[in-house]
Amino acid sequence: MNTYDQLYIDGQWVAPVRGGTFETLDPSSEQPLARVAAANAEDIDLAVRAARRAFDEGPWPNMSGAARAAVLRRIAQGIRARQQELAELEVRDNGKPLPEALWDIGDTAGCFDFYADLAEDLDSHAEQPVALADERFSSVARKEPVGVAGAIIPWNFPMLMAAWKVAPALAAGCSMVLKPSELTPLTALELAGIAHEAGLPAGVLNLVSGLGPDAGAPLAEHPGIDKLAFTGSVPTGSRIMQAAAKDIKNISLELGGKSPFIVFADSDIEAAVEWIMFGIFWNQGQVCSATSRVLVQRELYAPLLERLRQEAGKVRIGNGMEEGVLLGPLVSQSQYDKVREAIGRGREEGARLVHGGERPAGFAKGFYLQPTIFADVPEDSWIWNEEIFGPVVCLRPFDDEAEALHAANDSRFGLAAAVMSRDLPRAERVARKLRAGIVWINCSQPTFTEAPWGGYKHSGIGRELGEWGLNNYLETKQITRYDSEQPW
Ligand code: NAD
Repeated sequence: MNTYDQLYIDGQWVAPVRGGTFETLDPSSEQPLARVAAANAEDIDLAVRAARRAFDEGPWPNMSGAARAAVLRRIAQGIRARQQELAELEVRDNGKPLPEALWDIGDTAGCFDFYADLAEDLDSHAEQPVALADERFSSVARKEPVGVAGAIIPWNFPMLMAAWKVAPALAAGCSMVLKPSELTPLTALELAGIAHEAGLPAGVLNLVSGLGPDAGAPLAEHPGIDKLAFTGSVPTGSRIMQAAAKDIKNISLELGGKSPFIVFADSDIEAAVEWIMFGIFWNQGQVCSATSRVLVQRELYAPLLERLRQEAGKVRIGNGMEEGVLLGPLVSQSQYDKVREAIGRGREEGARLVHGGERPAGFAKGFYLQPTIFADVPEDSWIWNEEIFGPVVCLRPFDDEAEALHAANDSRFGLAAAVMSRDLPRAERVARKLRAGIVWINCSQPTFTEAPWGGYKHSGIGRELGEWGLNNYLETKQITRYDSEQPW
């Protein structure tokens, strides 16, 4: 078993104050994979103090954007140089198929390069003149780093979710304390090592592995944090928001989803099947933006269901390290139990099980589950409305555009949505009426570092990625000068 029994605080690897550790498992074998340092409130306090000092005393926030960009680019290079090894570590910690892990690590490196460019742009764009109607004054709006950021991330894209927060925060000039998920902490700990080798000054990035209540909660509540960035479930997000309220911390939340996919009858059936399958089965359906509710226009409903059933039957299930595997194990026993429970609920609620729903034959160990398709899912059922976060897709037929839009928007979530039609004006019109932060036309799931990411309603507050992601870590200051010689 590997050991990751130290925390990265103030540029050094240190044992947790109380020496605690926990185990992370390989979900394909259920065997312990690594022993990992368990931070508690004392360690969090040390990490926040280190980040505070790094911010207040510099040099990081006062360096030029170009100088920060050079460090970010070295981090990107360090990640790329170890892409295969990091991807394999992600497979063992999370269970995802290796080709998906390789994308994740490639995107992680790309995210650091992207924010390096934006850091450089800040050198010329941090100050913008503001036109005032009163000519006796001149004014500029200036972007400055928000301060010390605390970040708490989930287990579904362990290293990529770290990058979505670390890269823009460092580009902005912030310092950060990051807590990865206790289920998948390994690649985030590796990221700290890579940042260290890249010459990031001590205290700018602090990596504290630990459990949610023991390490996450003290981080969210710490008065030394200026900004909290959280990705995870709605209930935890709500707790984080309450903790942030006490000190009026700046906050951004990326939460759950139950994203709809509207398929009109004029769609190419093979393309629809392909995107529906990808939209719900990649990463074992453990994707916040998974298009888990599929609305199909009635004429296409039966043939599409049949093609989906055939394709789901061909999905190769297995250890993510094996070639050709499309569906690995779910991340943990508790996630496996939750998804099985949701499937049981769907059966009780009268949804028609078209495929899957069981543990696949031939797997004595590992959190494996068949790709699962439910049709004719009642619109008031739990499985139609709540996030399952597993390889379970729900389908319903619809007759016209208005009905599809109403059903798609009738959700407390609003992270993503997709629409498919050969009639592009219709697809564009529907896209504009969908109440979601991300809308895909004739596809589902592609994610771009340059484009805004985040949700409406219970799916969150604020946007990550692109210039929006950088703005998460910037304050805007007004500097106004009295230019007149006249007495005021
Ligand atoms: P989770 O809320 O259980 O845990 C997320 C993180 O919060 C973990 O690091 C955990 O240790 C920590 N945590 C738990 N309790 C805490 C507490 N009391 N105080 C502070 N921190 C605490 O979520 P999860 O199961 O890891 O992730 C799955 C969820 O994340 C899904 O709902 C999914 O939709 C969502 N998600 C959203 C996005 C997005 O971009 N919107 C991306 C990925 C995942």
